Amino acid sequence: AKELGRDQVQFYSVELNEQAQRRLQLEGELRHALERGEFELAWQPKADIQSGHISGAEVLLRWQRAGQSVATPDVFIRVLEETGLIMPVGRWVLEQAARQIVAWRRAGLPWLRVAVNLSARQLRQGDLVRTVSEVLETSGLPSAQLELELTESMLMGGEQHQRLLHRLSALGVQLAIDDFGTGWSSLSYLKRFNVDTLKIDRSFVRDTPHDPEDNAIATAVIALARSLKLRVVAEGVETPEQRRFLLDNGCDEFQGWLLSRPLSARAFEAWWRQQLLL
Ligand code: C2E
Ligand code: CA
Ligand code: CA
Ligand code: CA
Repeated sequence: AKELGRDQVQFYSVELNEQAQRRLQLEGELRHALERGEFELAWQPKADIQSGHISGAEVLLRWQRAGQSVATPDVFIRVLEETGLIMPVGRWVLEQAARQIVAWRRAGLPWLRVAVNLSARQLRQGDLVRTVSEVLETSGLPSAQLELELTESMLMGGEQHQRLLHRLSALGVQLAIDDFGTGWSSLSYLKRFNVDTLKIDRSFVRDTPHDPEDNAIATAVIALARSLKLRVVAEGVETPEQRRFLLDNGCDEFQGWLLSRPLSARAFEAWWRQQLLL
């Protein structure tokens, strides 16, 4: 039994070691990904739930490692956050998104509002207001065409975050609460912050209209948003029944595979031009 115990300890430490090794390698590769041009943005449209007209797009970070399997955002974005690499990468995402929207406008397409996801670290570290204003200025993107997606937990930072978000909102950019309902610890921040939009988390949309509990949550979030005069967007809408249910309950916009999967900039542009002809 003693022997076995020792073997097991060894076995676990080898496994742990491998895990740490993989993690180190990932970190090392991520450190060079930006300069190597391995990051890309995927574009996913949002639309008015009633008319189906495109109302904006969310950009989602993708990492294309040469000759390797694609890393999922949930994994590599966590590493970017933990290492602080999200600071330069997050700025790149803002710049890239802004540049693309302005390029499309110059090519004769209408202005489109672009939503960018932020990490908690981007609120805590560095000067987000300055970064955002620099990006707006150098790109020529009107501030109203930029929307920042934050999660509820990022708003629990107290006074300092409150001032920061007020300054961002004073720049004219829109603020959205992402994954709304998953971190529901207090709603008082909805009053304190200049929030414009609530995004109902995909986990509450998935089983509508068949699951009475999810129906109740989705309906309650929509009612809350409407009474606070906030725009409400449902994410992860995959079926016409889900869209119907959300529409009947007063949701404003939707996003999800039913409308389009996240696309490369080129594919998104083609999709968008098609929509404009309809
Ligand atoms: P999120 O902001 O909640 O983004 C929505 C996720 O749902 C995306 O996953 C999207 O591909 C996926 N999705 C969209 N429609 C559907 C649908 O109809 N059905 C299903 N099953 N899934 C759908 P993705 O691209 O893997 O991104 C995961 C998360 O990574 C995002 O969740 C966001 O929190 C984070 N993220 C992505 N890009 C960035 C970024 O540039 N910066 C930061 N800080 N975070 C990012
Ligand atoms: Ca988001
Ligand atoms: Ca979300
Ligand atoms: Ca989500």
